[in-house]
This record gives sequence, structure tokens and C-alpha cells, in this order.
Amino acid sequence: MGEETQAYKMLLAAKEQFWFNLGYEAQAPLKETKEVSPLTIDSAAARFKRFESFLKEAFPGTNGQIQSSVRTLPSFVERQEAASGRLLAGRFLLKEDYALPVAGSIKARGGFHEVMEVAERLEAEGKGGELDQFELAVGSTGNLGLSIGLLGSALGFQVKVHMSADAKAWKKEKLRSHGVQVFEYESDYGAAVAAGRKECQVSPNCHFVDDEASASLFNGYAVAAREVEAQLKTEGVTVDSDHPLCVYLPCGVGGGPGGVAYGLKHIYGDAVHVFFAEPVQAPAAMLGWLTGEFAGTSVQDVGLSNVTEADGLAVGRVSPLVSDLLKDQLAGFFTVTDERLKRDLVTMYETEGLFLEPSALAGVRGPWDVEASGFFEKVGVSADQVTHLVWSTGGSIVPEDVQREYIEGKGER
Ligand SMILES: *Cc1c(COP(=O)(O)O)cnc(C)c1O
Repeated sequence: MGEETQAYKMLLAAKEQFWFNLGYEAQAPLKETKEVSPLTIDSAAARFKRFESFLKEAFPGTNGQIQSSVRTLPSFVERQEAASGRLLAGRFLLKEDYALPVAGSIKARGGFHEVMEVAERLEAEGKGGELDQFELAVGSTGNLGLSIGLLGSALGFQVKVHMSADAKAWKKEKLRSHGVQVFEYESDYGAAVAAGRKECQVSPNCHFVDDEASASLFNGYAVAAREVEAQLKTEGVTVDSDHPLCVYLPCGVGGGPGGVAYGLKHIYGDAVHVFFAEPVQAPAAMLGWLTGEFAGTSVQDVGLSNVTEADGLAVGRVSPLVSDLLKDQLAGFFTVTDERLKRDLVTMYETEGLFLEPSALAGVRGPWDVEASGFFEKVGVSADQVTHLVWSTGGSIVPEDVQREYIEGKGER
């Protein structure tokens, strides 16, 4: 109780912290439903395969695979070690979803999967030739809208994207240049989603991509876990109870990180520990788990602003689907300030030449914090046997002039 009270106070004060989920059970069996299970992840993986030739043709220069690599970051790690005065005992790897083809963010996984699923369903109903009669709608802080809009329009759907106030101007412009209808709201993510959902309900041939509850998005994200498994095998990285894998995922509504976590838990069980990273003003998941209220509360309810430069993470209430599936499966949560995100953005660029958008940097401090916390001693593992996988979730399609503004420390609105 004491520990939780302290963490809650820190959350209310918008202070950075690392909180271990007291309800975490590394060995708890994964919940399975008709809509989300290892079988539905199999189906999602097969769907990506079926669309490879379409994607390759529709997006020249890509190989049709929605996959990213895993790499080391020796210079970045060295710089962080020097700055913090703490050496990292374990191995540090970066998952490069910031460079996913076409959409340039983790949303290419979930978003593309749902668009593909809808297209296949219509095709099975004999309506494959009339996709322009159907509408896809989505509410988004930016990147989900981009992924639904870019693939949806390539397949011939009409697409309507309802953007929250956080969405960056270039994301809206890019969508409009692809013939996507963009609606802008002064309010935050939750309101944009609600508006999109409502408009879609009264439209006769409209499919709403529901970021707060979609199993299709979730399954698309979960496929990433198999990719990681194959990549770690190729790299010769062992993952077992003596050599655990710790994964750090930037979290908005929770679908992206939740899907990946679910997929990884299915493969590695108690040999993987998953941590979610959020901005101090938008710790929707931390708040939900910490209070035990999950989607029943929001950061605005407790007086936080939900305003952050990390647009992809500007979400006030965690997904009920994700909290239901992963209640006891997440090892912990941590928060970061915008100042830290901006600093790490510049460091990443200076040391490795990689540009990541602010959201995509939320996880990078995780490995140091977990090592310092005594977590490995508690689970009886030697810290130098651990592999830390930090998920970089977006950045590669940010226009160069906008990248430059971030790198020069000006940010963008
Ligand atoms: C959407 C997004 C996330 C988080 O995904 P959620 O499903 O909203 O939790 C993280 N990083 C970036 C760059 C994103 O666009």
C-alpha cells in the first residue's frame, strides 16, 4: 500500500518514476478469447503474407513486408552511460519500427492489418471491385490515421481521419495529398475517436477502426513478436529464465505495446518482462494499473493535462481491451518528461544518426532503471545475462525540415 501511495503521489505531481506492477505474475497464463489468441495471431501473420505482392506493387521501393530490423546502439549507450554515470550490464538492442515501410511507425502493423482484414472480408462477399463505395474512419493523434489513410486510399477505400489537437500539421497534409478527408478537433484523442465513431455509425457503408477496442489492430501488432523471435535466434541471443528479455514499449492507448506484449508473452512466457513507457502528463496505463481502475479513469480525472510533445502517446485513458487481456502480464510502467524525450532525440541523432519522433524515445531509459531497481536480484538473475529490447515506434517519414527543427531543439506544433 505504501509503495502504491508514493507512486500515485508521484504520478499526480507529474514526476518521472519507475513503478513495478505489484500484480505482475510472470507465469500467469495468457488470457485467450475468440478474437485474440495465438490462433488469431497466426491468421494475422498469414494475412500480411497474402498482401506482400500488393504492397510491393502499390508502394514501389518496398519489398512488401511490414517488418523492421533489430540493431545495437553502441555510441548511444556509451553516451547515456557517461551522462548517467551508470554502466549497463546487459545487452541493449533497438527494434526499428520507426523505419517500418510506408507508414514509418508501429501503426503500420496494427493499422495495415485491420485495413487488410476489411478488404478481404469485402472481397469474400463479392464486393472486392467496389471498395470505393466503402468508407474507413478512424480517430487518431496522427500515426494511426496515417497508416489507415495511406493503405486505405491505396486499396481504393474512401478514408476519413478524425485528428486530435495533438496531430502534427505535416501528418494531416500528407493524408490530404493522398485524397484522405481529414477532420480536425480542438480536443484530445478521446474526443476525436468519439466523433469518428459517431459519424461512422450513421454512414451506411462505413467501417470504424476503433483504436480503443479493436482486436484486429491488436492481432496485427502481435505479429511483431514472431519477427523478434526469429531475429533474436539469428543474432544468437538466448532467451530463457536465466537469460530474460526485457522489453520497453512507448504506450498511448495501449494497443500497439499491448499487442506486442501479448505476442511476446505467448512465445517466451516468464522469460520475458514487459514495461510500458509514457509521458508524465499522459500516464494512462500507469494510472489504470496503479489504481486498479484500468479504463475506468483518465489522466484528466486526476488533474493531469494529457498535453505532451509525444503526440503518439497523448492518450488519457487506456484501452479496456488491453487492460483486460494484460492485467497481470505487465512487469511495470515508467514515465518520462518531454524534456528527456527531446534530449534523447538529439542524443540519438548525434550518436547514431537516427531520427526518431519524440514518442519513439520514451523507452530508452528503461534498461538503466530496471538494472538499478534490484529487479534482477529479486528474480534471481545476473544482470549481465539480460537482453534489453527498446522499441522505437516512429520517425522515418517525418519530413526533413521538421526533423531539423526537432534536432535543433525547436520542436514543432
Ligand atoms: C501510437 C504510437 C504509440 C503507442 O501505441 P498505442 O497503441 O497508442 O499505445 C507509440 N509510439 C508512436 C510513435 C505511436 O504513433
